[in-house]
Amino acid sequence: MPFSRGKPAVFLDRDGVLNVDTHYPHRPEDLIMMGGAAEALAFLKSCGYLLIVVSNQSGVARGLFSEGQVRDFNALLQARLAEKGGAVDGFYYCPYHPQAVIERYRCDHPDRKPRPGMILKAIEAYGIDPACSFLIGDRETDMEAAQAASIEGYMFHSDNLDLFVRQLVKKRHEKGA
Ligand SMILES: [Mg+2]
Repeated sequence: MPFSRGKPAVFLDRDGVLNVDTHYPHRPEDLIMMGGAAEALAFLKSCGYLLIVVSNQSGVARGLFSEGQVRDFNALLQARLAEKGGAVDGFYYCPYHPQAVIERYRCDHPDRKPRPGMILKAIEAYGIDPACSFLIGDRETDMEAAQAASIEGYMFHSDNLDLFVRQLVKKRHEKGA
């Protein structure tokens, strides 16, 4: 039987990467797409990557919004991405926080970045090969989570995800990744 390496994936933080981080965005009117986000995801898809969103949503633990609102916001984001062929394959979010206002969300959960729980779950669920996958985030905790899951992490701090991603894929390709 031929040895299968698993699928390549790109893990994406949500707020500050796919949409502008407008401080706990959760209402439909809070969704401001990052420049080039849909185009970037369509491009990554055309390169053969699975697209997985991994997002801390401690606003749930803080009592600012519900998990239902997280899912509704993700569905709206997905619709905008899909318009340009950049639909996400899987959404993961972590509603927990050690100092949660709401008791049932109060814990130091293994899914909460910088811990790698969400990434590890997706690797298992989708048969992803960490060695040919990478993560894009906008915080140090994203980089730490990637490292803890043994995948490359890249910090995004510009305002056009498409430009960033095309340069990154080119750079990785040149490096033989
Ligand atoms: Mg972020």
